[in-house]
Amino acid sequence: MFSLRLSRKILAFALAVGFSLTVLSGCGVKAVAYDEYGYFGSLTRVVTYEELGEDKTKIKNVLNDVDGAISLSVEGSDVRAFNDAQPGETIEISRVGYEIFTLAMQAYALTDGAYNPAVGLLVDLWGFSPRFNDSDYAPVKPYDRERQSVPNAKYIEAFKKEEVTDFGEVKLLKEDSKYYVTKPNTSVEVDGVTYSMQIDLGGIGKGYAADKCAEIVDKRENYYVSVGASSLVLGANAKTPDGAPNEGSWKVTLASPRGESSYMSVFAKNVSASTSGDYERYFVQDGKRYSHIIDPSTGYPIDNGVATVSLFGATSAEGDTLTTALMVMGRNKAIDFIRNNLTGCKVAIATYEGEAGKVYTNMSDSDFELSSSFEIEKF
Ligand code: AMP
Ligand code: MG
Repeated sequence: MFSLRLSRKILAFALAVGFSLTVLSGCGVKAVAYDEYGYFGSLTRVVTYEELGEDKTKIKNVLNDVDGAISLSVEGSDVRAFNDAQPGETIEISRVGYEIFTLAMQAYALTDGAYNPAVGLLVDLWGFSPRFNDSDYAPVKPYDRERQSVPNAKYIEAFKKEEVTDFGEVKLLKEDSKYYVTKPNTSVEVDGVTYSMQIDLGGIGKGYAADKCAEIVDKRENYYVSVGASSLVLGANAKTPDGAPNEGSWKVTLASPRGESSYMSVFAKNVSASTSGDYERYFVQDGKRYSHIIDPSTGYPIDNGVATVSLFGATSAEGDTLTTALMVMGRNKAIDFIRNNLTGCKVAIATYEGEAGKVYTNMSDSDFELSSSFEIEKF
């Protein structure tokens, strides 16, 4: 787990990426109180109009459990146990880990593998796993470089092979109130070194945590939960000023992928929202941007013009996986996918064609407000 002492530093960062929420407060309306928790290398914020009281402990417990399941930095986490397991080995995992694996499996199937947590080897190869954030990072793996840079192609070729990326081959089992996962009995070899499937649940964990925290505060009606500024669950906002768009809603500011601080705002309530963007973590080499979202079919970071996707609707865990998947699909496939599978969801897909930003959305005019030079195209 990333420690709490990091949280202040991350606060400034978290507000600059993903969502930020503007409380639509009118004159004389008391500011809301909020609580913050440092997990997953980012901040969880729970905002209500009343004290959280004992719910604080429940929220901490939830965040602890999720961290203990998905963290790549916590020794003994479910993911670490899976990654360290031998091909074909079955290991016991936590109930929360089992639930997250199950949801991840459903998302993998629904998105035809565009969301694929078995990109762990590729994420690590490209330098985006948490160990690269450590101040004392030093190269240890055969493929490590001094700093983030385009890796050797032989590793990309090996690590995208289905022997280590076919998440459908992972088997889950529940028996006598115990939970198990079996690693596929396959591996790849590069220069005499064997590599087995590595899982990265960074594309679902925060969404799952947001859902679970929201369940705890949901009885309050007026609230929002934000995990890592990329997963939100919104209750209502009783303090929306009179005359503001969509009474009772929060104003959610979507971070601009480049330059300007925000490209649009969305008015929403009683809904989950997720965002994913190529600006969250990336490096630039020879003028080209390489982001942390990997296209499992190529083994490379996505390169299709989509810079960020935000989705309102679905559960937060689903939204987390879907925004990542929509980024991978690219604009045309993503729009088809939304039309066919996500009819109840409102989505904004921000793209760059050269310097010009364009946002494709199925939201109606009253749902959002443009705050940039982005061109809008409805679908
Ligand atoms: P998100 O910020 O929710 O879009 O999740 C991105 C994170 O999920 C990355 O930092 C990786 O850890 C992991 N990831 C990258 N590419 C994929 C993918 N195609 N499917 C699932 N997880 C991914
Ligand atoms: Mg996501």
